Amino acid sequence: MRATSRGWLVRCPFHDDKTPSAICYRADGGFHCFGCGVHCRDVLDFHQRMTGLSFKAAAQALGAWRAGR
Ligand SMILES: [Zn+2]
Repeated sequence: MRATSRGWLVRCPFHDDKTPSAICYRADGGFHCFGCGVHCRDVLDFHQRMTGLSFKAAAQALGAWRAGR
């Protein structure tokens, strides 16, 4: 993993990536792969794509969801 001013270069988990061709942005936790073109707005979006969960289920998995009463 290599750090740049914009973020960290990482191997993409969405395709069979041999070299780091994706970037994880410092600013908002977004993710973009230059290899396969996957783009995630933030860590929640990333988790949804990784797991195929709904928005609510992904938020719950990350502890970002508190049910209202
Ligand atoms: Zn990729």
